[in-house]
Amino acid sequence: MEEKRNHADWSDCLIFYDAGTGCRAGTSARKDEYDLLSGDTVSLSDPDHIYHVRCSYIRQPMVARSSSFSYCIPTFLFFDDSLEKLGVSQDYREKLTDCYRKLDSDIKDVYNGLSAKLQCLDTQHQGTAYFSPDEGGFRFNESADISKGLGAGNTFFHESAHMIDWLAGKGGTNITQLNNLTDAAQADYNDAISSIMGRENCTMEKAQNILSDELWNNPNESNCVSDIFGGLSGNKVSGAWGHRTEYWATRDRSIIGKEAFAEITADSACNGRNLAFTQKYMPRTCSAYRAIMKSIKGGIQV
Ligand SMILES: [Zn+2]
Repeated sequence: MEEKRNHADWSDCLIFYDAGTGCRAGTSARKDEYDLLSGDTVSLSDPDHIYHVRCSYIRQPMVARSSSFSYCIPTFLFFDDSLEKLGVSQDYREKLTDCYRKLDSDIKDVYNGLSAKLQCLDTQHQGTAYFSPDEGGFRFNESADISKGLGAGNTFFHESAHMIDWLAGKGGTNITQLNNLTDAAQADYNDAISSIMGRENCTMEKAQNILSDELWNNPNESNCVSDIFGGLSGNKVSGAWGHRTEYWATRDRSIIGKEAFAEITADSACNGRNLAFTQKYMPRTCSAYRAIMKSIKGGIQV
């Protein structure tokens, strides 16, 4: 049985950055190296020591001889160390980590690259979760997020995605706004309505009712489509989830793209079936979303 060393005993481990793929680790006394992905752990041993290393992304290509703990974990690993610092429960951390592992590598890289800038201000927030640029962070309720019908972690990924959208923007304009994500959603909505009108040979009002029924028949799967199409139609098209009409009416049109970005991120992390539904009804938005994530990743200095 190996003794598990604490962080302070990691002073002699080496972490190598391996561009694009993650990290490799070894010790000075032992040349063996291990290919690691972010979040992986490995035990390294030399004659005198056992090192337990958890890999995180390193911002700059480097070969780091670690004389301090901070080099062993050069940037805090978002889904482990940062959550630990926030004081969220072990159970919730594990759920978020499970969600995180489902993300495409581009989105994972964005989360890791911006992890030091993400700010969660309150994990026990009473009331509706939100991100505020003025407060520079987001608030949510951990236990409510565990039991949410859209999948545990949905609120966390939704609100943190709002913050990423803002962080990746320029001069106070979010990146979804710079990339006109709302226009892509509008095109998806127009396609959906005109295809029903063509298929059923019906009026727009009738097509809106048919589309709403399709969303209601898939209440959770349609959460993103329901919200976004609701925003675009003054809630004439809507299913089981969505913002109130006043919410849309009192905000700039760019809010549609902002919400789509947050909801696609949350579904990517928490529920593949929901994401597939969004992909089916909002293909242009999903494609624009992926391009935005790639561009954010490209702008992060690793
Ligand atoms: Zn939102």
